[in-house]
Amino acid sequence: MALCEDDLLRWLSPLRSPAGKPVQLRVKPAAVRHLKQGHPWIFDEAITHASRDAGMGDLAVLNDEDRKVVAIGLFDPRSPIRVKVLHHGKPTPIDDAFFARRINEAIARRAPLAATDTDGLRLVHGENDGLPGFVVDQYNDTLVIKLYSACWVTRLSQVVPPLVAAVRPHRVTLRLSRGVARHPEDLHGLRDGVVVAGPPLSGPVLFKEHGLVFSADPLLGQKTGFFLDQRDNRARVEAVSNGKRVLNVFSYSGGFSLAAARGGATKVTSVDLSRPALDDCVRHFDLNKHHERVAACAHEELGGDAFAILEQLRTAGRRFDVVVIDPPSFAKSAAEVDGARTAYARLCGLGLGVVDDDGLLVLASCSSRITPAQFRETMAEAAARAGFELGVVEETGHAVDHPVGFTEGRYLKCLFCRPRRR
Ligand code: SAH
Repeated sequence: MALCEDDLLRWLSPLRSPAGKPVQLRVKPAAVRHLKQGHPWIFDEAITHASRDAGMGDLAVLNDEDRKVVAIGLFDPRSPIRVKVLHHGKPTPIDDAFFARRINEAIARRAPLAATDTDGLRLVHGENDGLPGFVVDQYNDTLVIKLYSACWVTRLSQVVPPLVAAVRPHRVTLRLSRGVARHPEDLHGLRDGVVVAGPPLSGPVLFKEHGLVFSADPLLGQKTGFFLDQRDNRARVEAVSNGKRVLNVFSYSGGFSLAAARGGATKVTSVDLSRPALDDCVRHFDLNKHHERVAACAHEELGGDAFAILEQLRTAGRRFDVVVIDPPSFAKSAAEVDGARTAYARLCGLGLGVVDDDGLLVLASCSSRITPAQFRETMAEAAARAGFELGVVEETGHAVDHPVGFTEGRYLKCLFCRPRRR
């Protein structure tokens, strides 16, 4: 059943703000160069002059020193990324038609997924789809909108109707990043983790990824409930799991575990600190036992700190044919990069301790602050210290619904390795 138009209007109408005159901002030449390369952010310190005091969500026209328009975006007085850029180049109207075009382009980019029995996907990936700070995931009949900047609050009446028209969901839910939720005065009454249109939600939503059934809690789950960005890497693991013992470290709700099981793994061991995540993982095995290979696969969950568990497994002499290590982001700020590299290096060493000879070690990083080159180097050095050649056979990134639109957008890195003793 599609969402009722009235429901949507009831939610969106009060959020529409009167169209004010855009603020004119002059930016430094270095920032102009970045804009000309298509970069979607203007930092606070790049702005040298403003035509007036601007407020949250105001349209901002960015000018070079000769007062030529170079880009247009949305103003966010709370963030060091002061303007999220929507359009680069000559002036253009930023109106309902503009937002509808962006949304429809984003949806068209995901068309290849339709053929893969997948209805859990990221429909809009912020900056990478030309809508910085605005993210939309679909879980079956439920859309989850996540705002990373309050500048989107008064634009919801422009971006949501085209989304709903294209996808025809049953309900829409809203998530707010921690930074956004901290300032209710910006939010026109919006709150994190609520159904904003459509029927209430009494539990997780079921959806499919490549025909495997998963559940996500769009109101309470991490991110928007599932780590959709690893879809292709899970398929790669599925393809090499037949007859294997697979260890999935930082398993969350078992995305990689289920892929390995359907791929024919004899036994999968899932490790996570979060008990609710492991409970979900067990439930996902249950939801997929109609797949013969999932039903035949033994599953073991180990709750606790992954570093400690990897050490225990090694000393207990446990070995695995495939080891997946997909930790949370260790570097949320530039200051944390060194600590993150140390943590990745430790995990690589620990992984090498439990992967069997000729086994596959899959190492992932979702820290956007760590570049692909840094990640590769860190892991190769850690392997060398442990007496191994890392043996990278494939280096991959995000799935198709997480396009990369700018350098910082390439956050997910994944190394498929066949380590060899030196
Ligand atoms: N691989 C998962 C996503 C991992 S998200 C997937 O494909 O869906 C990171 C996970 O790491 C979260 O579930 C979190 O609970 C877990 N985690 C964080 N710190 C941990 C630690 N020290 N030990 C074990 N698990 C941890």
